Amino acid sequence: MSEGLSAPRPRIGLSCCISPADPERGVYPGKTLLYVEQSMVRWIAADDALVYPVPPVPPSAPGGPAAWVDDLDGLVLHGGSDVAPGSYGSIPLRSDWEGDPVRDAYELDLVRRFLDAGKPVLGICRGAQLLNVAFGGTLWQDLVEQGATTTTHTDRVIYDGLLHEIDVEPESWLARVLGAPGRCLVNSIHHQGLRELAPGLEVQARSARDGLVEAVRAIEGSWCVGVQWHPELSDRSDPTMLDDAPIRASFLDAARGNRGDTETQEP
Ligand code: MN
Repeated sequence: MSEGLSAPRPRIGLSCCISPADPERGVYPGKTLLYVEQSMVRWIAADDALVYPVPPVPPSAPGGPAAWVDDLDGLVLHGGSDVAPGSYGSIPLRSDWEGDPVRDAYELDLVRRFLDAGKPVLGICRGAQLLNVAFGGTLWQDLVEQGATTTTHTDRVIYDGLLHEIDVEPESWLARVLGAPGRCLVNSIHHQGLRELAPGLEVQARSARDGLVEAVRAIEGSWCVGVQWHPELSDRSDPTMLDDAPIRASFLDAARGNRGDTETQEP
């Protein structure tokens, strides 16, 4: 039954989206639901990793976040609802920009725990924004309305069909991981974005048309990367789109580094 010297399969936590109690919902009316999006799970699992949704559980619970961090090898921050302005010391400029402070608090706690434990964190879209907040940066509540750009980065109708080019920063970590592709094409499903870059993060890629930050990486400490696009929704049949697999591979390599157990022993 030995698996020989095959690499250990990393156990990856995936933060959950939260659907608040809704009396109009057909199933579980009035109850809070937790969910993940199927493409995200499949994207992570496609490279021989096990995916575990990590639910928000009170930190005082025995099965709470401390236990998750002990058991898991890395964390992916799921996309989804807006980050709440209050999470970075601002106030919502509009009532529909109040964001999701409950999810922010849960994910910020997870990020700190994973990084403190030396375990890698990959933030997708909202997750990249949350990493900037976790490291002390701020966000645009709405890119176009606040004048950060005149180019929309989201379209409800074509959704993940909205594409734009990014410029990978020369000689950056991301340029090395991707084999220095320079300019490449990604999807765009975000109306918020990184504003003041957090100390401790460095820009890895910018939107070609307006210079907005599209990828960041922690300068020191654990492997920690955020991308503003959605690799899990990228159209793999389109050869002009960025192949994100090397980013995932780097993340999973870092996660495997936390699995110095059975598989590396002599047979
Ligand atoms: Mn974008």
